[in-house]
Amino acid sequence: MEFNDLHPKVVLGIAAHPDDLDFGASGTLARFAAEGADVYYLILTDGSKGTEDRTLTSEQLVEIRENEQRAAVEAIGGKGVAFLGYPDGGLLVTLELKEKIAREIRRVKPDVVITMDPSMLYSARRGFINHPDHRAAGQAALDAVFPLARDHLTFPNLLKEGLEPHKTGTVLLTNFDDANFYVDITDTIDTKQAALRAHASQIADMDGTLGWITKNAEETGAKAGMRYAEAFVRIDIR
Ligand SMILES: [Zn+2]
Repeated sequence: MEFNDLHPKVVLGIAAHPDDLDFGASGTLARFAAEGADVYYLILTDGSKGTEDRTLTSEQLVEIRENEQRAAVEAIGGKGVAFLGYPDGGLLVTLELKEKIAREIRRVKPDVVITMDPSMLYSARRGFINHPDHRAAGQAALDAVFPLARDHLTFPNLLKEGLEPHKTGTVLLTNFDDANFYVDITDTIDTKQAALRAHASQIADMDGTLGWITKNAEETGAKAGMRYAEAFVRIDIR
């Protein structure tokens, strides 16, 4: 599947924490924005636990991370970002969360949703366990895309708010191991780096991290004949 067969007018990225979308998909989000799409981010948690700095309170960290995420969205040419503010580390797949995501989907009407692959539980080969917030975010986002945002009888209060049902055409799941879709980000790798630079509170060794990200994009690209790439599981919803 080619990137060029996707021409979204609106793209919505949905993720657990400020920085998730920028690590996993900001080269692609920047490319969509550069090609004229309105790109929005929806961040589900408040990011209040992501620090080793014991002088910072959670409240201070929330504000820092929201500002970092706003700066990253600006860097990729995005239109805006909304924060649902659930406590970091405790995200649960609830109907309340799904309704809030469905509200945003019905509000911005994305052609493409980018979110985290909830089937990624762990990778023994890579030696990591996927963050439970990432799994919950992906699960709730998929459920909101289908069927909850689509059916008018679901969440009748959304209809009362004037939010009509919406069908999203394509979902891209960030998944490093089982991709079926590669996006050439050679023209936006610099923008991806700029988006990541915005997350200074999360990246202790900025040069090291950007080096690792670039190498990863190069290795991903090598699988698809591209210089730099991001990889996804793509689902076109029929
Ligand atoms: Zn995260």
